[in-house]
Amino acid sequence: MIFEENISLKEYTTFKVGGLAKFFYIAKTKESLIEAIKKALKKNLPIFILGGGSNVLALDSGYDGLVIKIHHTKHIIQDTNVYAEAGLSLRKLIHDVNNESLSGFEWAAGIPGTIGGAIYGNARAFGVNISDIIKEVEVLDKESLEIKTLSKNQCQFSEKQSIFKKDKNLIILSVILELEKGNERKIKETIEENLKSRRERQPLEYPSAGSIFINKEGAEPSSVLIDKAGLKGTKVNSAEISQKHAGFIINTGNAGSADVLELIEIIKKEIKFKFGIELETEIQIIK
Ligand SMILES: Cc1cc2nc3c(=O)[nH]c(=O)nc-3n(C[C@H](O)[C@H](O)[C@H](O)COP(=O)(O)OP(=O)(O)OC[C@H]3O[C@@H](n4cnc5c(N)ncnc54)[C@H](O)[C@@H]3O)c2cc1C
Repeated sequence: MIFEENISLKEYTTFKVGGLAKFFYIAKTKESLIEAIKKALKKNLPIFILGGGSNVLALDSGYDGLVIKIHHTKHIIQDTNVYAEAGLSLRKLIHDVNNESLSGFEWAAGIPGTIGGAIYGNARAFGVNISDIIKEVEVLDKESLEIKTLSKNQCQFSEKQSIFKKDKNLIILSVILELEKGNERKIKETIEENLKSRRERQPLEYPSAGSIFINKEGAEPSSVLIDKAGLKGTKVNSAEISQKHAGFIINTGNAGSADVLELIEIIKKEIKFKFGIELETEIQIIK
């Protein structure tokens, strides 16, 4: 097994920001993922697990360790249960369950990234969370190298939160989802509607990492607060608060991570000052 060296993280993230990973490995099977982790541990290399790179910010200084891109994608659909390996894209999964007339996943159409990344951040859209359709999650504990199965309860899901955000030793290997029988035409229609709504509301023509902040329970959505604070269109070099969706920071050219981080600080300060609300960042920094 050979790790690639000095790989641009820009190429592996939807934000198109960031420097080089000192070492980089694409794990195409569960077994190769485990082997890569063992090798990194032996060499004392810090490890960052990357899915589709659609909810991360890579730093301009890069990552002084091993970035493992999760790319094992086997999946099996049996009745209403779906087994999916962590590297499978949501796009492919939604397409395949739709072909089997399974309903319960329409809300996720248009969310980029992998099923593993979606579980990590308890992805959510149109009022539905990924945790709503999860039965169990298979994980590797990279400290003990033990593989175990966590029930939905053990995953400690809440809004945009999970045990995986708290315990960085846990790597998601696969998941079992529970869907229900539906009507193929109706499912397709809902997916089309959801995709249309995204095109209308989100600045999909620019690189971004989706919504930068988690919506606070009981408070207005972060995008509404940012809009009310008059911050739409605020720029730091090529990083800009989207005019179309104030929750998104877009990369309009050659933004660096310092530009994005400065813009995040500007937003946090303004929202705290104007509304007394502390915004929590949703995107994860590769560090
Ligand atoms: C245009 C756009 C629209 C978006 N819309 C939405 C939306 O509607 N709702 C929403 O919730 N999100 C949305 N997002 C954000 C993002 O797509 C989701 O959070 C997605 O689920 C992230 O998955 P990923 O595979 O890209 O994860 P990454 O960005 O690769 O990783 C995110 C985090 O998950 C961890 N991780 C990834 N895989 C694993 C694994 N196998 N085991 C352990 N940890 C892992 C990483 O270490 C990192 O900390 C959007 C993003 C964009 C760019």
